[in-house]
Amino acid sequence: MPSTNSYNPFRNYGIHLWGEENFVVENGEIKIDFGKKPSLVQITRQMREYGYKGPLLVRFPHLAIKNVRTLFNHFERAKQEFGYKGKFKAVFPLKVNQYPGFVTPLMEGTKDLEYGLEAGSKAELILAMTLTNLGRPITVNGFKDREMISIGFLAAKMGHDITITIEGINELELIIKEMDRLGSPMPKIGLRIRLHTGGIGLWAKSGGYSSKFGLTSTELLEAMDLLKSSDMIDRLSMIHFHIGSQMDHISPLKKAIREAGNIYAQLRKMGADNLHAINIGGGLAVEYSQHENLINRNYTLEEFTNDVVFLLKEIATAKSVPEPTIFTESGRYVAASHAVLIAPVLELFSQEYSEKRLRIKETNPPLVQELYDLYRSICEKNAREYLHDALDHMESLLTLFDLGYIDLVDRANTETLVHLIIKRAIELLHGKPSREIKTILDRVQERYLVNFSLFQSLPDYWGLGQHFPVMPLDRLDTEPTRSASLWDITCDSDGEIAFNIDNPLYLHDVDVKKEEYFLGFFKVGAYQEILGMRHNLFTHPTEVTVRFDESGEWHLENIIEAQSILDILDDIDYDTKEIERKIRQIFEENRNLENDERKEILGELYLYLSENGYLRTINFSEGAQRCD
Ligand SMILES: *Cc1c(COP(=O)(O)O)cnc(C)c1O
Repeated sequence: MPSTNSYNPFRNYGIHLWGEENFVVENGEIKIDFGKKPSLVQITRQMREYGYKGPLLVRFPHLAIKNVRTLFNHFERAKQEFGYKGKFKAVFPLKVNQYPGFVTPLMEGTKDLEYGLEAGSKAELILAMTLTNLGRPITVNGFKDREMISIGFLAAKMGHDITITIEGINELELIIKEMDRLGSPMPKIGLRIRLHTGGIGLWAKSGGYSSKFGLTSTELLEAMDLLKSSDMIDRLSMIHFHIGSQMDHISPLKKAIREAGNIYAQLRKMGADNLHAINIGGGLAVEYSQHENLINRNYTLEEFTNDVVFLLKEIATAKSVPEPTIFTESGRYVAASHAVLIAPVLELFSQEYSEKRLRIKETNPPLVQELYDLYRSICEKNAREYLHDALDHMESLLTLFDLGYIDLVDRANTETLVHLIIKRAIELLHGKPSREIKTILDRVQERYLVNFSLFQSLPDYWGLGQHFPVMPLDRLDTEPTRSASLWDITCDSDGEIAFNIDNPLYLHDVDVKKEEYFLGFFKVGAYQEILGMRHNLFTHPTEVTVRFDESGEWHLENIIEAQSILDILDDIDYDTKEIERKIRQIFEENRNLENDERKEILGELYLYLSENGYLRTINFSEGAQRCD
């Protein structure tokens, strides 16, 4: 058996680059490398058996918990290495994923760590107050009004360790007013600083001078005056910055830490005696790349934690201030890998190019005959040469057709044979397609219709061109031979992931009328769910959590079915009772229908209304191989 971890762009889809050792390929299937190692196909089949059709969002809470622990362990290691005396704490920023199927097990599984939640809105703050383990940190960012600040006071009165980060002087004034009204205990105060260091990546706007957030140097001085004059300087405990998401390089972070470290030291010297924490925000990048040449992250977690700890120690020593508690708010890094979207392929659009579609005649035009011979004798040694010959012949034959020398059957045979030869050539030249072959692949790409909505499930692909790792769940022991573009089931032409020669996706040639074929989209656990749009009224897919018990046995829990058609209409404020009444009325007034017939039709319609709007997978013909 070939080694499954060796680099083969055709077969392992770059798992060694993006997989974080969470998955393994065994016996041609991708499996979770944990406990009894269920394969994703097995999980999908089980859900089918329970009666759930359409796309699935599968959650693996153990992966998010693992990421948090890895982060803590790395900081612990770096602290020891540099003899750092400050603490390390972290919060999960709720805006990255607020779904209960994610947050609840995350809080449950990290109880023993100094790990809490970050809120950026009132609703998120209510979640943070409810779900954060008491005593663990809560931080509040974003724009705040009086009411939001009051809620922060109430959290402090519940006994929460809460820090409200001020984005502007007016927010500080509101806190002072609320302090007069509500009294102690009150939240701790953080100051978000506006760095001169620019932000980075696709999400650069969070950092730098023109950033939406944070206090300028002048405002910082003003804030200090206000805190002192209102006798609240002892509440100032944290300074905060966030330079943007998915930082691909470490250097802007290093600059930002130097800047923040010096501000921290200055403010302490100015009398902020309880200022003890620097919150370095989020931005830890996730590797989404499936190809070596597209890797986007230029640092490891080890380098990241070493740099943070080393720089802060250096500044604290130089300025003779205590080494600060380090806070992080990494969201994408914690959440992305925990969710996988599994979607069935419904159709392949150039399936007509199969051998059984050939209509070879008794006597064929010489070039068609030659194509046929090339197809029957192509082998590894001659594959490249035969491929070139086939493409030449195709050009000539198409010209002959235009001039009227060959007929439509000859032309159809030409197209089919050339496609078959290309397919064979790719199989034979496996592993290392040249630029030339990739260009050909671009021309002959297969369109895979996939039962999902890109707008609902991969909105960052639509909005920002963010690539997500994608691969089939099985057949991983056979070469995929088709260059693939993926179409979703919305009626929007933007609902497509086109074949891209620089980031190619190859899939298998499957007759989906006979066999099922599922694609997995990985690392969709950060931002995608809540940003997802209900374009065409497709809803959040059916979700399920995979939990492992102590013996490594896996269990499917917390199944939440995709919304029914009536529910989503209700969500956009239709009166669904009225819809039902209207349908019934129109049927009742239709005199062409017998009573029984009417009842039957209505019954069927009601059934559809109560189901979700994704497509049912096609029925397989009698006796054909199928999944469930
Ligand atoms: C969005 C956000 C984060 C999370 O950023 P990631 O790139 O997901 O780690 C952290 N802190 C603040 C203030 C944010 O706005």
